[in-house]
Amino acid sequence: MKLLQTIESDLNRLFIFELRDGHKIESVHYRGDTLCVSTQVGCPVICSFCASGKRGLIRNLSAEEIFEQYRIVSGLFPVRRIAVAGIGEPLSNWQSVKSAFWFFKEKGLKVSFYTSGYPLNRLSELIDLSHCGVTVSLHFISDDKRKRFMPFSGSSLKLLEFLRLKGGSLTRKKRSKISLGYVLFKDLNDSEKDLRLLTEWALRLGVSVTLLRYNETGGFLPADEERYEHFFRYMRSRSVKVTLSTRFRRDKIGGCGTLVVDREEAEVMI
Ligand code: SF4
Repeated sequence: MKLLQTIESDLNRLFIFELRDGHKIESVHYRGDTLCVSTQVGCPVICSFCASGKRGLIRNLSAEEIFEQYRIVSGLFPVRRIAVAGIGEPLSNWQSVKSAFWFFKEKGLKVSFYTSGYPLNRLSELIDLSHCGVTVSLHFISDDKRKRFMPFSGSSLKLLEFLRLKGGSLTRKKRSKISLGYVLFKDLNDSEKDLRLLTEWALRLGVSVTLLRYNETGGFLPADEERYEHFFRYMRSRSVKVTLSTRFRRDKIGGCGTLVVDREEAEVMI
């Protein structure tokens, strides 16, 4: 695996790697000490709002290929944290992701995950690992919408129900490391009803909410800034621990959902 190109903004550094078989993947160094790594070439979940899954799954990365992203970047810049949040669904390449996790832990790194949550038995194993945070990308409370926009994920309600049952066996500290990820789209999931349901679920589960600002990758619009702040303020007023997308995650270089398998072919140039 070799580093082909580095693209920098004021905030992030995006690395394009070429794998031995010629496929490409991307990683992002942000916040000065965090590396967001990819786990697959493409993604089988094919969320319609995400550039990473546009071509579906091409292949899984091996544990070594996941770790190699860290090995190369840490030779150039400081890396103390790993976010398993790049291209791919970690639970769909679970054996390699688990092995890579233990490599990272041996290096003393803090590791957090983003996942769409399925299959649930693997999510359960993931939650039990000694991670620093698991953000479960919910995005839609309604099963119909989730099916429409995250076609190869599973039901929202089953996912929430699973988290309720799983939460009962966790310590409060462990539960506090789980968050519901929610990207706000204009007129799709930003209504008052959505807000109230999301708040009720977060309170019932005793977990936090990560409100993500949508980085436009085509076909969808981000919710108005005002709505985004309204969601934040309302949830805070109901004592839900809620965080907003950091400026790093909103950056057009390497922000959430913007990594691609082949930048030229995807015609995503920066
Ligand atoms: S948002 Fe995550 S799960 Fe969905 S297509 Fe993109 S990388 Fe895959």
